[in-house]
Amino acid sequence: MKFIETRGNDGSKPVAVSFSQAILSPLSSFGGIYAPEHIPQLAPDFLANHLDKDYKTLARDILLAFGVDLEDGLVEAALSTYDGFDDPENPVPVVQIGERLHVSELYHGPTRAFKDTALQPFGVVLSGLAQARDEHYLIMAATSGDTGPAALDTFRNKPNIKVACLYPDGGTSDVQRLQMVTEDAANLKVIGIHGNFDDAQAALKGLLGSERFCTTLVEKHTQLSAANSVNFGRIIFQLIYHLHSYLELVRQGHIELGEKVYLVVPSGNFGNALGGYYAWRMGLPVEKIVIASNANNVLTDLIHTGVYDLRQRKLIGTSSPAMDILKSSNVERVLFHLFGAERTRELMRELDEEQHYQLSG
Ligand SMILES: *Cc1c(COP(=O)(O)O)cnc(C)c1O
Repeated sequence: MKFIETRGNDGSKPVAVSFSQAILSPLSSFGGIYAPEHIPQLAPDFLANHLDKDYKTLARDILLAFGVDLEDGLVEAALSTYDGFDDPENPVPVVQIGERLHVSELYHGPTRAFKDTALQPFGVVLSGLAQARDEHYLIMAATSGDTGPAALDTFRNKPNIKVACLYPDGGTSDVQRLQMVTEDAANLKVIGIHGNFDDAQAALKGLLGSERFCTTLVEKHTQLSAANSVNFGRIIFQLIYHLHSYLELVRQGHIELGEKVYLVVPSGNFGNALGGYYAWRMGLPVEKIVIASNANNVLTDLIHTGVYDLRQRKLIGTSSPAMDILKSSNVERVLFHLFGAERTRELMRELDEEQHYQLSG
């Protein structure tokens, strides 16, 4: 399977790349990102066949469905990071909290951020690829509080990888700030900025696109990558737990195999929700994906009205800072799968330049 660019190709990059290329260099032409050229379809008996399989086997088979170009040994090493979760046999417990209401507990990793579930294996994959190619990478991460600690933890002392992490000073919890600023590995750097998460993400995107910054890195034989969910390497490990959670509901006797479920996903950058979207498009029986917002409910408006409008909005700091995001990066991949690269490029240009776009009927 190849990965292609959400905003089309400008001639300066390959038209299609492998999974490993897409995750090593996640930014593509016209400021776009990479998405799979088609969404793999699960075999009709895939779910039934995985009822008696463990999380790692499910994960391995999903990676296989996307045709990832990773050595078996590297996949094994990546998935062995789940051994560091509270229950290695079941890294994502699914727990009943109400009548016909269950929660996927995604906080059983080393930093307690749900992002561990994807970042732990992702860190091993990225470092492994870098070593195999004898290349050095700088990961620039922007965080609203959860990505930072999880990214720093996964890359701590990993060969061939350095991390610089930008966080909005005052915009994270004290625990999260301390998780970051007390890291002392030589390959990690943490920087608090004056501004909010969108400012941190904009600074990151600006740097990643800056020629001068990139030339300096070339002189240092270092390439840039990203650990935010613009990186498809994050998304692929996120869609797994949606499938896993469904299988758990069947195993626990709450639903019949084939019965549809609602996925309710608190959303910021839309990575977790996009994982659910891919799981659904691959064949998971999903009735609806419900996007939960906080006061920064730009996605609520988009879904109800087809309008993405930042003009009257200011980012509102809330008690759920990981969702205090107005430019939700992964919506772009949904636009791409629905409308194609040309339309996505047009919409994203409108958002970047005019701060709004409107979908047609
Ligand atoms: C990152 C995060 C979110 C937002 O997730 P996305 O996948 O970026 O939409 C929501 N809640 C918590 C606790 C998070 O850490």
